[in-house]
Amino acid sequence: MVDTLPSYLAGEWRTGAGDARVVRDAVTGAPVTEVAAADVDFADVLAYARDTGGNALRAMTFTERSASLKAAAAALSERKDELYELSAKAGSTRADAKVDVDGGFGTALVYAGLGRKGLPDGTVIVDDPEPTAYGKHGLFLGQHILTSRLGVAVQINAFNFPVWGMLEKLAPAVLAGVPTLAKAATPTAYVAEHAVRIIVESGALPDGALQFVAGPVNGLLDLLDGQDSVGFTGSASTAAGLRSHPSVVGRSVRFTAEADSLNASVLGPDAAPGTPEFDLYVDQVVTEMTTKAGQKCTAIRRAFVPSAHLDAVQDAVAARLADVVVGAPGADGVTMGALVGTDQRDDVRAKITELAADARIVAGDPTTVDVVGADPEIGAFLAPILLRGDETSQAAHYVEAFGPVSTLLPYDGSAADVIAEVARGQGSLAASVVSGDADFARATVLGIAAHHGRVLVVDRDSAPESTGHGIPMPQLVHGGPGRAGGGEEEGGLRAVHHHMQRTAVQAGPDLLRSLG
Ligand code: NAP
Repeated sequence: MVDTLPSYLAGEWRTGAGDARVVRDAVTGAPVTEVAAADVDFADVLAYARDTGGNALRAMTFTERSASLKAAAAALSERKDELYELSAKAGSTRADAKVDVDGGFGTALVYAGLGRKGLPDGTVIVDDPEPTAYGKHGLFLGQHILTSRLGVAVQINAFNFPVWGMLEKLAPAVLAGVPTLAKAATPTAYVAEHAVRIIVESGALPDGALQFVAGPVNGLLDLLDGQDSVGFTGSASTAAGLRSHPSVVGRSVRFTAEADSLNASVLGPDAAPGTPEFDLYVDQVVTEMTTKAGQKCTAIRRAFVPSAHLDAVQDAVAARLADVVVGAPGADGVTMGALVGTDQRDDVRAKITELAADARIVAGDPTTVDVVGADPEIGAFLAPILLRGDETSQAAHYVEAFGPVSTLLPYDGSAADVIAEVARGQGSLAASVVSGDADFARATVLGIAAHHGRVLVVDRDSAPESTGHGIPMPQLVHGGPGRAGGGEEEGGLRAVHHHMQRTAVQAGPDLLRSLG
């Protein structure tokens, strides 16, 4: 028997009731916890957020909110080993866990800094550098202000980043003065729960500023109104269902989605074997395939290579993948952990079968894997799988295998051709161009920008300071059009503004000055 995972609602930890889902250790298969619907009336939870959390946050200045956020981040940093340990049960190596845990508190710290340095020591943001005058004498002017919305930020997270995913949504809401109700994805809810516990125990945030729910949230969306928001990360199909919820549609609940994405990486025609760019490209593809066992929304799924270099890239990536040691996080020499669970592994295997309908597997075997320190039959292990398609391949442009899987695809070496090929993914979170040819890189960036939230160009000069294809930065937009969900998160203070209401105020100069 394992304990049922509690939720933190209306100021107390409450254990769920009713049918429970057992969550198993990704490596050993042993039950870790079980997740059941929270035994609570969501109307009370929302009221607690709006009245207790919202009132407390709105009474604080941006400077005070920044300090709270910094204290929450510091508490997580101090106890990060506890989170690494739990993350290992979800299949994450120490390096994977750092992306999630350190990435999470690091993001909160960046927001704390943005709030401290970029926002006034008050509660209102004046959004225009100068008011617009409507008459000759400047007696009547117009200016935008931003004030905290009076609702709740409902934040629904995906399983792959239980800490970072929660923190990158929570931090801007705290700064904006809006209380959060964070809903964790069931497979890693126990990691998110522990992060919330650390924050709650630190006392960094005022009561009601952060509530946490494990398990389903049936009926919650019915209770939302036009002051509330839903920030969703997860699959495109769940996003579609939530986006069309009657509250979202009928009461204009502010809704954003980060969904799945067939991110591209482009090797420039100049980057022949033997160049630093060629090696950087190969390294990046392998890193993106193996970090978090490829369970990253930004991972490279489509690797576009000039036809002339395709064999060389295939050989180089396959050689590097042959050195990957799959196994239990922490076991000797292990460089890639497990997927989050066997259901996820089976789903990825099924998606590989779909991809292999019109591409061929050139490295790895989806049915067998050598595993260090664990039983390959019980743990959710999968070898990294590299596929190779051609100009006629279709599946690579619409099937997302959310694991250590990537497909090499050829193009003719021109920017025009690769721009058209990349666009077949119908909108992605991130793309990269690895090239020392500035004209090619410029043309490609401008040609693919409309389909992407973030584009990264890497060459031998910028590589030493590159933050990597798959790592969203808090100062920059994370999101993407079309298939990627159409939302934007992060992007510095833009994410704070998202939780506030922009209001145009028209008045005389003295009144306007008194607002900010
Ligand atoms: P998912 O099944 O869509 O679930 C995402 C979240 O939605 C979970 O918290 C889930 O809770 C919740 N949920 C499901 N149905 C719901 C409903 N009717 N009402 C409210 N919440 C509901 O996705 P996932 O399997 O966790 O994540 C994998 C997918 O997420 C991949 O496709 C990946 O590409 C995408 N992803 C995107 C990003 C990004 O930033 N764009 C980041 C990470 C992952 P339960 O788990 O309790 O069902």
